[in-house]
Amino acid sequence: MNLILLGPPGAGKGTQAQRMVDRYHTPQISTGDILRSAVKESAPLGMKAKGFMDQGQLVPDEIVIGIIEERLKAKDCDSGFILDGFPRTIPQAEALQPILTKIGKKIDHVINIEVDPEELVRRLTGRRTCKNCGAMFHLLFQPPKKEGICDRCGGTLYLRADDKEETIRTRLKEYEKQTAPLIQYYQGKKTLRSIQGVGGPDQIFDQIVRLLDATPV
Ligand SMILES: [Zn+2]
Repeated sequence: MNLILLGPPGAGKGTQAQRMVDRYHTPQISTGDILRSAVKESAPLGMKAKGFMDQGQLVPDEIVIGIIEERLKAKDCDSGFILDGFPRTIPQAEALQPILTKIGKKIDHVINIEVDPEELVRRLTGRRTCKNCGAMFHLLFQPPKKEGICDRCGGTLYLRADDKEETIRTRLKEYEKQTAPLIQYYQGKKTLRSIQGVGGPDQIFDQIVRLLDATPV
C-alpha cells in the first residue's frame, strides 16, 4: 500500500501517519526527516541540501526529489510507504510520477484530511510556551493547571510569534494556495480520498482505517 497523506498544518497528519505505521507496518517518509538523515549520513545529495539549509534557503525541488527517490528505493519500502509532506506542489507531484514508474511502484491512495480553517486557527493559536524553561502547553489539549503559569517551573507562559493568529492565517493561506491544485491533480487521477478531520485522533484514524480496508490494493 503506497500512499500520500495531505492535510493542512494542525490537521494531525503526523499523529495519523504514526498510527498507520504501527498498524500497516509501512514506513512514514517525511521530507524533513529524510533531509535531516541524508545530511547526517553525509550522502552526496544530503551535502548539497545542507548548503541551502545552512543559508536558511529552501532546498530546491531537484535535490528533494533525488533524496525521495533514494529513500523510496530502500528495502523497507517494498511493502509500501506513507509520504508525508511530499509532494507539496504540482511540479513535485509531476516529478514523482516518473520516479515511481522507474522503480515499478504506483500511488494507491491519496488521503486528504480536511479541517475547517477556523478550527485550525483555534488549534494552532492555542499553544503557550514557558518563557523560563521552554515547556509547551495547549489551551485546548494540554492546559496548564494555573492559567498563564508553567506547571513545571512556575514561569510565565507566552504566545510565540509563530503561533500568533496572523502568522497562522498566513501559513494556512499559503498551504491552501499550494495544495488546492494538488488536490485537483489527484482527484483527476481518481486516487484522492477525503476524510473529515473532526473529533479526536481515534475518530480520525477510524475513518482512515475504514477507508483503506474498504479499498484494498
Ligand atoms: Zn517553565
